Amino acid sequence: MIQLIKGFKDILPEETALWQYIEKTVADIFEDFGFREIRIPIMERTELFARSIGEDTDIVEKEMYTFADRKGELLTLRPEATASVVRAYIQHKMYAPDPVRKLYTVGPMFRRERPQKGRYRQFYQINAEVFGVASAYIDAQLIIMLDVLFNRLMIKDIRAHINSLGCPRCRPGFKNVLDDFISSKIDRLCADCKRRKDRNPLRVLDCKVPSCREAMADAPALIDHLCETCREHFNTVQEILNAQGVEYLLDKGLVRGLDYYTRTTFEIQTGALGAQNAIAGGGRYDRLVSELGGPEIPAIGFAIGFDRLVEVALQQKRSLDHGPDVFIAALGEKSRQVAFEWSCDLNRTGISTDMEFADKSLKSQMKRANRLNAAHVLIVGENELAGGEIILRNMDTKEQLALPIEGLVKLIRDRIREDNIIDR
Ligand code: AMP
Repeated sequence: MIQLIKGFKDILPEETALWQYIEKTVADIFEDFGFREIRIPIMERTELFARSIGEDTDIVEKEMYTFADRKGELLTLRPEATASVVRAYIQHKMYAPDPVRKLYTVGPMFRRERPQKGRYRQFYQINAEVFGVASAYIDAQLIIMLDVLFNRLMIKDIRAHINSLGCPRCRPGFKNVLDDFISSKIDRLCADCKRRKDRNPLRVLDCKVPSCREAMADAPALIDHLCETCREHFNTVQEILNAQGVEYLLDKGLVRGLDYYTRTTFEIQTGALGAQNAIAGGGRYDRLVSELGGPEIPAIGFAIGFDRLVEVALQQKRSLDHGPDVFIAALGEKSRQVAFEWSCDLNRTGISTDMEFADKSLKSQMKRANRLNAAHVLIVGENELAGGEIILRNMDTKEQLALPIEGLVKLIRDRIREDNIIDR
């Protein structure tokens, strides 16, 4: 038997209802904030990721699924979406006539990381990117939008961690300080970090090897070396979050694993997931559009880890696998024929149904209805058909209602719509 690839997973029907619900909620909220969906391919030229994410990052050095196609061109399954969205923004000149664009996209990403709980080789992200706004308002607004989303999804135990990574003006000064610090610890660093020290010392701050983490624990922080403009920008972000009552933690150690970030960076972390505690991450990348060949246009974005969001939602009992509105238990061939007609008519009016097609006892059909988590069971037997009344049982309240056969479908539909409205 051929098995699934390691680190990949199937999302089974018991879970897809929750995925769909989250995706719909995301679309509703993001559209309210002015975002529009963009759909991009899952494969790009390798160069796009190498140039944007950075040659010295873990993703590009170790984790990309890269292959040469039949003509020898190097292609990569995308490890993240920002680079592709930026490419599309530039390629389709989406900045003309107005550079301001708010885009979101949902889909699979691929990274050959060590698989473990909460870390997959194919995982899903919900991405949002804003182009053309330099103001700190938009930094704060993205964090507020995440707060609105998590509230709507009733996800608890989360907190925004925020930091600033400065800009090309404050970084050189900081790099000198950092260089000195790294040199003093060089013997304790891994081989990768020894190599990264001269090429890209910021990446040493982000290394996951425990001995490097330990050695770098007291490393200087960029936030203490910000230029005046970056400091003001970051202060404004915090003031807006304070005014909006969004809680956050100032996290000097938050550097994020990609090269393109500047200024505000953030991560939404949760206490509910153990080691893989980041449920979303993002930040400004004001130079990336121009570095990839576009005009000088500031940008900011984030990615939510969809798989992790689902895991937290499931843990917090937000399962939305609701089962059919009506399960029809039919007894005998004649009842089955009528039941099938009603089931089709109910489906046509927007009521979801399921039924038993084999000759099974009422007891076994009720068991199946329970297993499917059906909201109601309609019991159809020869006696009921002869008597002109059918029983509709509410599986939650156990209340049984005798409904006339005449106009039955409409009666059931009205009854269920009413219940659904009350539920909401
Ligand atoms: P990143 O693009 O690394 O900033 O990741 C953004 C979010 O995607 C993280 O906060 C995680 O929630 C999620 N994520 C990243 N890598 C993985 C992975 N290998 N498996 C599952 N989720 C991931």
